[in-house]
Amino acid sequence: METILVLAHTETDGSLAKPALEALAAAKSLGGLLVVGLVGENVQDAANSIAACGAAKFFGVCGADFAQARYATDAAAAEAIAQAAGAPVIIAPHTSRWGRVLAGVAQRLGGRADTHVTAVSLVNGAPAVTRWYYRQRMEAVLQRAQRPWVIALDPGCVAPWRGEAGTASVEKVAVNLTDAHKRTTVTGVRAPKAEEQTIRPDAKLLFVAGAGWTKKQADGQVHVAEAEKLILDFLKLTGASLGSSKSLVDLSGEGQAVLPFMTHLNQIGQTGSTPRHPKGLSTCCHGEEPHTVGWRFINERRAISLDPSCGWARGKADVLYVADAFQVMAKVNELLAAKKSS
Ligand SMILES: Cc1cc2nc3c(=O)[nH]c(=O)nc-3n(C[C@H](O)[C@H](O)[C@H](O)COP(=O)(O)OP(=O)(O)OC[C@H]3O[C@@H](n4cnc5c(N)ncnc54)[C@H](O)[C@@H]3O)c2cc1C
Repeated sequence: METILVLAHTETDGSLAKPALEALAAAKSLGGLLVVGLVGENVQDAANSIAACGAAKFFGVCGADFAQARYATDAAAAEAIAQAAGAPVIIAPHTSRWGRVLAGVAQRLGGRADTHVTAVSLVNGAPAVTRWYYRQRMEAVLQRAQRPWVIALDPGCVAPWRGEAGTASVEKVAVNLTDAHKRTTVTGVRAPKAEEQTIRPDAKLLFVAGAGWTKKQADGQVHVAEAEKLILDFLKLTGASLGSSKSLVDLSGEGQAVLPFMTHLNQIGQTGSTPRHPKGLSTCCHGEEPHTVGWRFINERRAISLDPSCGWARGKADVLYVADAFQVMAKVNELLAAKKSS
């Protein structure tokens, strides 16, 4: 087996996030010589936290210039570590920070990159990657002859590496930065407050709201305020992640007073996201193919729809409740609240 470089960046607190530990676990599963490369303001704590991972060497690019995500400095750091390590196979977590730079780094190294990899394995003694194509409709296992081969592993696909912390000896790799590398300055981070954050990739449950929540109900009226309360209460009680159908987020985007906490980032499906959660509950959504294709990685699926012949009933869900979601969710929230207070 060829030498593998695990390339990771630290978080703002100097730690390694779960995706980095997942990339490490994936690399270890292949066997062979392992080396680690770390980028960040200070990489010693991160190296120490994985000191027992069995890496033959730790390389580090550090300093204030590498604290925050920036294409020019991140690409230069990754390239310098790859040159120093000389590893033919490079595995990195497909975080938004690395996702921006890895293809460029592979190009600079004269290698190749594969992104959104969901698994790595050995086929005939050589590494192979698994990835999905055509919005998760086809899965391929592929190998490459070109080296270095940069593999960006999607978060949430592999159990993260766990082990004792220790003391790692980090070989510092120098990167010559010019002013041109630092043209882009990160002036701050804008993010919703934690309690307003509805997209939670690590949640056990995905809760999907469809356009039905905003449609006229049996009494001929719309009940958007009630829908908003039911959905937000459920999210608060369960910590579930919030997904949406395209129809619902399109309504919100058109400026209608629909569900103000919903944006296109919540959209699941062919032109939305394909999140990974053990369970999913769809409500007031018809379950059409362009939507349910985004449910590929939801293991157990349930849906609540008034329509007994909706897409969910046609093999898309494990369980379909043909019922009024307003009534069902009000009861579910009541039971959850009672359970919480007992
Ligand atoms: C190229 C292309 C890409 C697309 N990409 C996506 C995508 O990424 N994601 C996506 O979601 N869609 C996508 N679509 C659109 C998709 O085909 C559907 O139009 C969309 O998913 C419909 O949203 P919906 O089910 O919420 O709304 P609707 O089709 O309006 O369904 C609403 C459902 O709510 C039910 N309902 C109403 N009131 C209640 C109640 N009280 N209780 C229970 N049920 C109730 C109704 O019976 C109905 O089944 C795409 C389409 C195309 C052509």
